[in-house]
Amino acid sequence: MKIEENCGIFGFCGNTECFSFLEKGAFNLQHRGQKFCGISTSDTKEIYWKPPLPGLVKENFGEKDREKFKGNRGIIHVGLKEPQPLLVEKSKLGKFAVAFSGRISNQEELEERYNILSSLNPAIEILARIIRKNGSFVEGLEEINKEVEGGWAIAVLTQKGEIFTARDPYGFRPFVLGKSITGCAVASESVALNKIGMDIIRDVKPGEIVSLEPNGFRTVGKIESPREAYCTFEWGYVAHISTIIEGISVKRVRANMGAELAKEDNIEADIVAGVPMSGIGYAIGYAKESGIPYDEVFGWNRYSDRSYPRLIQKEREAVAEEKLSEISETIKGNRIILLDDSIVRGTQIRKLIFRLRKQGAKEVHLRIACPPLIYPCQYNLSTRTREELIANRCSIEEIRKMIGATTLRYNSIDAFIRAIGLPRKKLCLACFTGDYPDCP
Ligand code: SF4
Ligand code: MG
Repeated sequence: MKIEENCGIFGFCGNTECFSFLEKGAFNLQHRGQKFCGISTSDTKEIYWKPPLPGLVKENFGEKDREKFKGNRGIIHVGLKEPQPLLVEKSKLGKFAVAFSGRISNQEELEERYNILSSLNPAIEILARIIRKNGSFVEGLEEINKEVEGGWAIAVLTQKGEIFTARDPYGFRPFVLGKSITGCAVASESVALNKIGMDIIRDVKPGEIVSLEPNGFRTVGKIESPREAYCTFEWGYVAHISTIIEGISVKRVRANMGAELAKEDNIEADIVAGVPMSGIGYAIGYAKESGIPYDEVFGWNRYSDRSYPRLIQKEREAVAEEKLSEISETIKGNRIILLDDSIVRGTQIRKLIFRLRKQGAKEVHLRIACPPLIYPCQYNLSTRTREELIANRCSIEEIRKMIGATTLRYNSIDAFIRAIGLPRKKLCLACFTGDYPDCP
């Protein structure tokens, strides 16, 4: 699956130089966005910023930048859609840099209201305009909640070195706080905190405004939260396998999703395999639950997709093609249960099943961890338009025939919720149910 619009943010406030923490933090969020990266730091007197660059963290930042990004406080962003952070040079609040991860669902209306024309990064510009017209950063972040619809996690760095962060009132976007003797940090995913030696303290609460300070963090504002609606697709696909969201391990959820699929099955098969990399976690859970051995049917070329998001569609297809190689040893003559996260258009999985058959697979039973993707996301990830989602147009049997699987099953919504382990009322399931949590 390809996501068009995701991103990751990381903010650090400590008592030691922040640059290397920021760089490491963003590198460990790189799976959330590879098109742009940008950084801003402050030594409490000045703000240091350079226009965000196209490409990966490792390609753009290194030792040479330590000098330029001074101070003990900073924010860094990796994204797929807009270069960030944005620097606001003049405002009654002083200079500040701002970055966000999310999606503004009433963006067009706000672009008009704020007269934003042909901007490279209109979404973050809208947020900056709303903040700067207020009397304080906290008021600005509160105001965002009144005007902006959608899901967001946002970080503001001020010239004085203050860092204000906020999460939308439903908590669509993940945002987590960590701490160590070196300071405290906020990140889109806990894996980034662990990788800089921090303990995960807790998630930012839906609607909470938190200030990062050298010795810890502090709640400085609270927007009323109508309900929680954590993005279930984060556990199902987006987040890193080492990440913990709302106290629940992504790894465990993925194994549970595989196990849920196995509980409903009674298939005689020789092996259980996953489509690398995301399908592997589910396959392990399925294999454990069913007693059918786990094995690999595809090898993975880790060098093939380094610049994947920057390629044009045709090149991407070629990369997808070359990325996986069949392992005939485990395919030939075998009945295979194959696990994957989701089906968007069905074109990629069809090719993979064809390749398994060509290598002599006797049967290919495809099992999908997420329920059928039927509706587009309005908060988090703009996957595809509704028309492009195959489950919106075709029955499961029609999809099965089209992709050439022996059998095809998805997790039900109930099984998917059980695998996560949180009550349904705390979760966003809109891309599977069409039930958008912020629509009455
Ligand atoms: Fe996540 Fe889907 Fe809800 Fe979007 S609609 S926030 S992808 S669960
Ligand atoms: Mg996949």
